[in-house]
Amino acid sequence: MCSGRVVDVIIRWLCEKCGKKWIYPVQKCIYCRGPITKRRSAKAKIIGITKVNIPSPMHPLTPYNIILLEDESGNRMPKKVMKDYKIGEMYEVQPAKAEGAVVISRIKYDVDEALRESINLLGGINLDPQDSVLLKVSCIEPAYPYQAVSTNPKLLESVIGLLKEKGVGSIAVGEQAMLGNDTMDAAAKAGILDVCKKNDIPFIDLGKAEQVEREHDGMVWKLARDAVERKVIDIPTMKAHSQLGIAGAVENLLRVFSAETQKALYAKGIHKMLPQILGVVRPLLCIGDAVNGMQGNGPTSLGEPAFLNLILASRDAVALDRVFVEIGMFPVPEWMEEAGRGGAGQVDLRKIEAVNYEVDAVKYPLRQPEKGATAHPRIKIVDGEADPHIFNTALRMAQKLVGLSGEEVSLVIGAHFTSGMVEGRRRLVLYGKDAIAKGKGMGIEAVAELTEDMPEIQRVVFLRSILENPDKKKLGIADAFRAKLAMFSQKRK
Ligand SMILES: [Zn+2]
Repeated sequence: MCSGRVVDVIIRWLCEKCGKKWIYPVQKCIYCRGPITKRRSAKAKIIGITKVNIPSPMHPLTPYNIILLEDESGNRMPKKVMKDYKIGEMYEVQPAKAEGAVVISRIKYDVDEALRESINLLGGINLDPQDSVLLKVSCIEPAYPYQAVSTNPKLLESVIGLLKEKGVGSIAVGEQAMLGNDTMDAAAKAGILDVCKKNDIPFIDLGKAEQVEREHDGMVWKLARDAVERKVIDIPTMKAHSQLGIAGAVENLLRVFSAETQKALYAKGIHKMLPQILGVVRPLLCIGDAVNGMQGNGPTSLGEPAFLNLILASRDAVALDRVFVEIGMFPVPEWMEEAGRGGAGQVDLRKIEAVNYEVDAVKYPLRQPEKGATAHPRIKIVDGEADPHIFNTALRMAQKLVGLSGEEVSLVIGAHFTSGMVEGRRRLVLYGKDAIAKGKGMGIEAVAELTEDMPEIQRVVFLRSILENPDKKKLGIADAFRAKLAMFSQKRK
């Protein structure tokens, strides 16, 4: 950690010629074209306090204080705090003391300033020019940046800028889309490929790159060589996740592993296995993208932007995710409890040092993921910890039937569902070999069993037939014929 760091409380952009002032970054004075200097003040005096006792949707916890800060040049800035201060006191932001601290920064000016503030408060990045770095972004399906599915391209660009300033020679950006999606399509639509091209940095499809094997916890893990040989900076989008509760720094590392390894982790039970990932890949630094963040039925574009306006930074992936759980007021997911028990990271909130903002000051009740939701209101998923390929394609089948009415159908996926989860549901469709095997073992009477090696269009035709015919007990010859016809006409197109 470097000493004597100046941590800005207030920044202003000042024209050197005419003295005009801005509260956001400007390149040149718009009045006289004069050059701009950034004026930073690390100390400010508290000149006003408003105590708020009435909760509101954006500010559920009371009482809180809005303190008004003023620096030596008379610039003012409000800040929300939970702690009580006195008028006339000096206010300073204290940098991180603990190794596993989590910095919470609000985007006050722009993404770049907020990132610099976060890294500065964390004590910098420990990198030398000879280091090679993998920026592990989150980009699971083709979606536009405003949908908050993928790592914000501006944030990525700021991280690249910071590393280039440090003289880091070898920087690469990498990701593997959710199994069943095309990585390059996803990275293109997210604006990530553009950032790479503009900065002359390679983008690596981690699913297709060279792989290595590592032994850990009695299992062979296959993963991209780049995730082992490069230092990893983990840049997840912070999201609600209908399977895992939340997706963040830990979940984002899942996709450096081969499809085979990912499937094996889900087959063993992902809540148990997810924390084990950190025994194989340890990120140097995690930068949680909550520029927008996602709420509702994430991690795909079924979820919606959360407009959090935050950046989280930590060297402890688990602690960062734990803080996000608290901010969004999510229940602590099972895998996170497991991570705490196994020592993969800090999950005890009282032991996590929050820097810059108090966790309670940025708490905001996000829309919780609804278990089993799909894009179709009548098609529900019963999730037995299905692997990302099955989960993704199940969602896609439902998506293709949006607009068609019918009776409720439950798509049962994964190997870890319980009898309680299917109890009371009438029309069950088992999808994938794990669910089919488990269903057989439990003596479940399903309307259909759909295997993953069936062409997708065939599965969709079968599901449609079940959706539209409430009395259907089994698929018949007519369904098989319809599916053949659909496959034939798809081929002709
Ligand atoms: Zn000017």
